[in-house]
Amino acid sequence: MTSQRTRERLMKRLEEQGISDVALLHAMRSIPRHIFVDEALASRAYEDTALPIGQGQTISQPYIVARMTQALLEGGTPQRVLEIGTGCGYQTAILACLVGEVYSIERIASLLTETRRRLGELKLRNIHLKHGDGYLGWPQHAAYDGILITAAAAEIPPLLLEQLAEGGRLIAPVGPAGAQDLIRLTRTREGYTREVLERASFVPLLGGAA
Ligand code: SAH
Repeated sequence: MTSQRTRERLMKRLEEQGISDVALLHAMRSIPRHIFVDEALASRAYEDTALPIGQGQTISQPYIVARMTQALLEGGTPQRVLEIGTGCGYQTAILACLVGEVYSIERIASLLTETRRRLGELKLRNIHLKHGDGYLGWPQHAAYDGILITAAAAEIPPLLLEQLAEGGRLIAPVGPAGAQDLIRLTRTREGYTREVLERASFVPLLGGAA
């Protein structure tokens, strides 16, 4: 079920839905998604759907991972990217194939332990993981050319806005459950421009580390 044919079907579906960045498609083809989910769910890993990863959290739908990544890459490859909500690390691995350095924060310690092991096996050397509250960002490595938030808040956390470099792009779902928009904010000299990319459905961004 994790055969090449199933994987190719997903790739075709992504292309049909407007994913056209060649490097991104290559990354999605080369990172195996089934190693990021429980063995019992591995047969469903190449369906275009979110799946449970424990602790009430989910691995994002492949299309959404691709859409967010493409929105981040448009306009130039970011050198430093901050991800909030590492989860199982799938989005983190895709980013690591495409940008300079990836800094990723997860609030649930037990998820992060497993993710560290998994990403270690993939031997991606440009990933830096941190257990903590993503609302605070990771100021030591700011400013970031890109910030990607994989959980939804009512508003973009102000400290994250501060840590975005001028010209940098922030991709995030915003709004309450059932009525979220996926947005892209671009930091300009004068402030921020905001685009709505599409509707989204993410787990909530929660405060504090767990
Ligand atoms: N990209 C991940 C998405 C996981 S779901 C994946 O595909 O696996 C969103 C993740 O955000 C969850 O793991 C959740 O624990 C985490 N999260 C929620 N609020 C957070 C916060 N304030 N700081 C860091 N991580 C947070």
